[in-house]
Amino acid sequence: MRLLRCWLIGILLAPGTGWAEWLHDQQDIMGTEVTVTVWHDQAAAGKEAIAAVMADMRRIDATYSPYIESSELARLNATAAQQPVPISAEFSYLIERSLHYSRLSGGAFDITFASLGWFYDYRGKKKPDAEQRKNLLPAINYKFLTLDPVRHTLAFAHPNVRIDLGGIAKGYAVDRAVEILRRYGITHASVSAGGDSRLLGDRRGRPWLIGIKNPRQRGADDREVVLTMPLSDVAVSTSGDYERFFIDEKTGERVHHIINPKTGRSADSVISVTILGPQGTDTDALSTTLFVLGVEQGLALLEGLPGFDAVIIDAAGKVHYSPGLQPPSP
Ligand code: ADP
Ligand code: MG
Repeated sequence: MRLLRCWLIGILLAPGTGWAEWLHDQQDIMGTEVTVTVWHDQAAAGKEAIAAVMADMRRIDATYSPYIESSELARLNATAAQQPVPISAEFSYLIERSLHYSRLSGGAFDITFASLGWFYDYRGKKKPDAEQRKNLLPAINYKFLTLDPVRHTLAFAHPNVRIDLGGIAKGYAVDRAVEILRRYGITHASVSAGGDSRLLGDRRGRPWLIGIKNPRQRGADDREVVLTMPLSDVAVSTSGDYERFFIDEKTGERVHHIINPKTGRSADSVISVTILGPQGTDTDALSTTLFVLGVEQGLALLEGLPGFDAVIIDAAGKVHYSPGLQPPSP
């Protein structure tokens, strides 16, 4: 079970007194911990809303997991190099958003990283061999994705392309969760799926507290928190090199799950990136993007994106903030 990267701390849980109260649930979905906390005037309706969110998270996993053979994504990967494959409007939207961030970042965010990335096995401590690198690195290029956004079809213009939405799907899932909760009349909630969180309203008069973990320091049960941010009505995504990784015993290299599409190797100039913004789909894609780009290029990209902020921890452990989070100079 993966550890929560962002801690939601200090959540006020009222005792089960019937009417208005805080309700909370946590389940393992999408290979991570999904946590939902809501305030609802009627406990029964609040519980129903949480169940609806969990059901939607399971649907998203079953549709886009590359590991489930029957998923829409796995079936697409198997056939899209032969002919255009019809996809749902939702799938088309996720591809379109992914391509948007690929273009914006000059290919630092690229869902075709999976052409080679598929052959990493972090639990089994395996990485692709030299032959696989030679054959599959050329298949990493978002320009091989031919999306018809009107008819909703996708084709691969290269035989070895695979895609994986792991860098954007959880952020999308927390956006959907907030839409669902709103439909139930909920105005105070927090939803997180691993390192992607979305806050709806505040904690009834107080901010939610979101922690950024220390990428290198473990406490007794979990990682230490280096920084706690009081927040409301925002999406927060953290990408770190400490969630899914192994140390290559021969080289001492930390092999982790964020791949630089240019090299086919784990990105190594920073160790943690947190992005704040209005929507999880964007903060998720951007946390992965800035992780690949590093501090300088990453902060330069954010300059063109009003409404987004970043906290980046570089390889030396230094914390960098985007201008929006820095105090104004005197
Ligand atoms: P997590 O999945 O741990 O929340 P991130 O949001 O940082 O983490 O996304 C990492 C995931 O993104 C990887 O597990 C992989 O599925 C995908 N990914 C890795 N490298 C890239 C990349 N360069 N572009 C797009 N997606 C990537
Ligand atoms: Mg991400």
